[in-house]
Amino acid sequence: MAKKGLMIDYLLCTGCHTCEVACKLEHDLPTGFFGIKLADDKPWQIDENTWEYKWVPIPTQLCDLCAERTAEGKEPACVLQCCSHCMHYGTVAELAQKMDETARPCTMFTIKE
Ligand code: SF4
Ligand code: SF4
Repeated sequence: MAKKGLMIDYLLCTGCHTCEVACKLEHDLPTGFFGIKLADDKPWQIDENTWEYKWVPIPTQLCDLCAERTAEGKEPACVLQCCSHCMHYGTVAELAQKMDETARPCTMFTIKE
């Protein structure tokens, strides 16, 4: 079976934390535990007109790619709820194709088999 993962077009991420909350609700995670967690790289000035200001959602070791949901043909909870549609789920080949079509830096995460 093809290995699957998440691709995150993080330059579109608004930092809304919805993916964190959706994951915690889906997996009933206690306080302080996360299946995905927002990191940030901000703010610092690149040149006179450009500032670096971005959010980077990172799946943790608790992420199982929503195995129960995806086994039923549903999207992972974080992907379904992301308000800016910057998260994608699929095979590594599908995500690589999507990254290739996206003219921005993105990140791809897979989990251990
Ligand atoms: S794929 Fe599922 S388990 Fe992984 S971060 Fe998203 S909601 Fe959490
Ligand atoms: S739900 Fe989407 S836009 Fe909101 S923090 Fe997560 S990845 Fe970013």
